[in-house]
Amino acid sequence: MDLLKNLTIKSFHEGLIAKKFSAVEVTREFFSHIKETDKNIGAYLSLNEEGSIKTADRVDEAVAQGEKIPLLAGVALAVKDNIMIKALPATAGSRSLESYVASYSAGVIQKLKKEMAVFLGKTNLDEFAMGSSTENSGFHLTRNPRDLERAPGGSSGGSAAAVASDQAIAALGSDTGGSVRQPAAFCGVVGLKTTYGSVSRNGLIAMASSLDQIGPITKTVEDAAILFKAITGKDEYDSTSADTDYGEEILNSNFEKVKTLRVGIPEEYFPKELDSEIGKAVERVIGDLKGAKMTFKKISLPHSKYALPCYYIIMPAEVSSNLARFDGIRYSRIDEKRLKAKNLKEIYTHQKGEGFGTETKRRVILGTFVLSSGYYDAYYQKAQQVRTLIKQDFDKAFNEVDVILTPVTPTYPFKIGEKISDPYQMYLSDIFTIPANLAGLPAISIPVNGWNKGEGSLPVGFQLIGKHFHEADILGIGRLYEQFGY
Ligand code: GLN
Repeated sequence: MDLLKNLTIKSFHEGLIAKKFSAVEVTREFFSHIKETDKNIGAYLSLNEEGSIKTADRVDEAVAQGEKIPLLAGVALAVKDNIMIKALPATAGSRSLESYVASYSAGVIQKLKKEMAVFLGKTNLDEFAMGSSTENSGFHLTRNPRDLERAPGGSSGGSAAAVASDQAIAALGSDTGGSVRQPAAFCGVVGLKTTYGSVSRNGLIAMASSLDQIGPITKTVEDAAILFKAITGKDEYDSTSADTDYGEEILNSNFEKVKTLRVGIPEEYFPKELDSEIGKAVERVIGDLKGAKMTFKKISLPHSKYALPCYYIIMPAEVSSNLARFDGIRYSRIDEKRLKAKNLKEIYTHQKGEGFGTETKRRVILGTFVLSSGYYDAYYQKAQQVRTLIKQDFDKAFNEVDVILTPVTPTYPFKIGEKISDPYQMYLSDIFTIPANLAGLPAISIPVNGWNKGEGSLPVGFQLIGKHFHEADILGIGRLYEQFGY
C-alpha cells in the first residue's frame, strides 16, 4: 500500500523506467488495496483484473526490451462507467443497463490503449451522470474517502473517490454541469473539465450532448495535463471534436509566462450565501498568487445568476431525447418480466418504470415537457437565448482578463442523505460550475493548499476558467500554485 500512496502518473513512469518496480507488481498491489478498501468506499462498480495484468505484462515486456514507453504505459486508471471499454460492462449507473457489455471502446479509451494504459475498472456514478452526490446510482453508495459519512460529490463520485483513496493513479470522469470538478473538490483531488470539442465523446453514454465533456481526475495538476494531452484531438466518430494541437508546452508550463496572465474575480461568484470558510480559503489562493506577482481584476458576469435555471431547461431537454434510445429493445434490462412482456407497451413500461430511478424519470418528464409544442418557445428557446447572454458575458470578460478564478462549490462536502430528498438544494451544488459548460469553456478544480493539515478538515477547491482551447493557461496557473504546496 505504501507504494501506492501519492503515486502519480509522473512518479509511476519514473519509477517504472528506473526499474524500481514493475507494472505487474504495481497493478497487483492496486487490486489487493481495492479489495481491502473499496468495501468501505464503493468507488468501483466492476473490476478488470485479468485485462489489467495482461496490459501491465506487455508494458513490463516493453521496458525489458529497452523500448521507449509512453508516459501512460502501465498507469492504473479508473474509468467512469458511462465511458465504454470494449468487452467490459457499461451501466452508466443505471439498472436498465445492468447486463450491457460495451461492444466498442470510446475514442478516449482507444487513444489510451495505444499508450498502454491499464484500466483497473469502472467507477460508480449518478444514474446517467445526473446528480451531485453519486446517491442516484442504481447500484450502491460511494463514500467520501476523506470522511465516510459524507458524499464524494457527483456525478463522477466513484472516479474522484478512487483517486483520493489511492485506488487508482488517475481517473476519467465526464462533466455536463460540474461532474468532474465538484467531486474533485469534495474529495481533495484535481478535476479538469475540458473545452467543448477538445475531447471526443464517441463512446460516452450521452447525457446532454451540447454540454457533455470527458475530463481527467488526478492527484496533481501536472497529471491532469498529461492525461488531457493523451485524450484530446479529432475523432472521426464525433463530429463536434476539434483537431487540437496543444504542443509540448502543455506539459511544461513556463512559469514566467504564466505569471503574466491576468486573473479576473467575478463578484457574482462570491455571494453572501457562500460558506465563509470557503470564501476565506479562496481568498488565501488569491493572496498566494498575488504573492507571485500575478495581477487581479474585479470583473462582472451578470448573467451567471441565470445559469442554473437555464441549465435545468436545456439539460433535461437533451436528456429526454438522448434517453429515448433506451427503448427496451436495443438496450434492455433483461429479467424475467422483460422476457415475458407481451407487447411494446409492456416492454416500455418495464424498461423505464423499473430500469430508471427517480431522478432520471424526473428529468425525462421535465425535458419532454419543455420541448412539447406550445411550450418550446417559452422554455427551450428562451433558455437558448439566455445561454447566449451567459456566453457573451465571458467573451466580454476575456477581453480584459485571461483566466477567471472562483470557488468550485458553495459548501463543503455534505453528509450522505442530507440533500437527496430536496432536488433543488442538490442542484445548487453546481451553481459555480454550470456556467463553464453552458459557454463551452475549459475549467479546472484544484484543492486549496493546506486543507488537509488541520485535524478533521474537509477538502475545499478553487476553480480556474479559461478561454476556449486555452487549457494551457489554467493548467499553468494550477501548476504554479501547486509549487507553493504548504
Ligand atoms: N450535478 C449536475 C446535474 O445533476 C451535473 C451533472 C454532470 O455534470 N454530469 O446535472
